[in-house]
Amino acid sequence: MDAACDIIGMTAGSEAIPGTTADTAFGITINTSTNTTASTTANTTTNTIHTRAWSKALTDTVAAGAVRKMRNALDAPVQYTMLLGEHEVDLNPFLGQHLKLEYSGVINCIHCDRKTSKSFNQGYCYPCFKRLAQCDTCIMSPQKCHYAQGTCREPQWGETHCMIDHIVYLANTSGLKVGITRGTQVPTRWMDQGATQARPIFRVSSRLHSGLVEVLLGQHVADKTNWRTMLKGDAEPRDLEADRAQLFSACAEGLERLWQEHGLQSIQPLDDADEVSISYPVLEYPDKVSSFNLDKQPSVEGTLLGIKGQYLLFDTGVINMRKYGGYHLTLSAGS
Ligand SMILES: [Zn+2]
Repeated sequence: MDAACDIIGMTAGSEAIPGTTADTAFGITINTSTNTTASTTANTTTNTIHTRAWSKALTDTVAAGAVRKMRNALDAPVQYTMLLGEHEVDLNPFLGQHLKLEYSGVINCIHCDRKTSKSFNQGYCYPCFKRLAQCDTCIMSPQKCHYAQGTCREPQWGETHCMIDHIVYLANTSGLKVGITRGTQVPTRWMDQGATQARPIFRVSSRLHSGLVEVLLGQHVADKTNWRTMLKGDAEPRDLEADRAQLFSACAEGLERLWQEHGLQSIQPLDDADEVSISYPVLEYPDKVSSFNLDKQPSVEGTLLGIKGQYLLFDTGVINMRKYGGYHLTLSAGS
């Protein structure tokens, strides 16, 4: 399918942004019961934005609202959707187009929606940052899980998010790395990190166990991505099966110890899990990676050259969309 004809889905019932309705010269049409054109599809009752070729060099509003981390779907390449308030904007059709993001100065906490002058931990207000289990330090360092000590900030949340199966995986992002994620976050997590290859290597029975394995393997392999390297191109392909074998033999003693302490059932090697290859919608990688900061520069624009991980790659610089969770942004586009 021609990417330019892809539909930008909007949440049913969400409001159209003034200025975009039936702006056919601009290439956007929003179907409404009172406003259709010959180029639109038969559905005239729901709000749906269609993108077609951006024929004129003008910039107009596509959508506005509090932004969330981009949604991704595994496809060749990955399909990205920008979430702005109630609006869902498919981003892939905008590749090669001029885009503008404007920050209004308003931030709403991504958890409680309260207005906050500063964002903590990529989108939370300060009270949520201090109160929520998902903002506790053990989330970044799962080996420090303190649920068993009865000091989890929200034991119930811990039960549904931490005391469940997790996956330990190998991924190729800016090179080989080990990572962990909830079973349900595969392969989303890999796409969020810009991995071009990934393979689960253990299924473990809690976040704590995933942390213990990660710390062990982390003595031999990186557990972080160099995001600048990741944004300069795709990492050299690796033989993840060989990497896994090598890690297992390097960590044999440590693994044995973990199995003795926690049981084989808690830390199960995944001998025949499939490797996943991931490609990203990128026309061109930047030679030099400079990142935008909306707090210092509230208006960002450029030609969209690619999307990888949670980054938009413009010819003018890159922006980590995840970092700005809860920021009120207006997305405009033109050719
Ligand atoms: Zn909050």
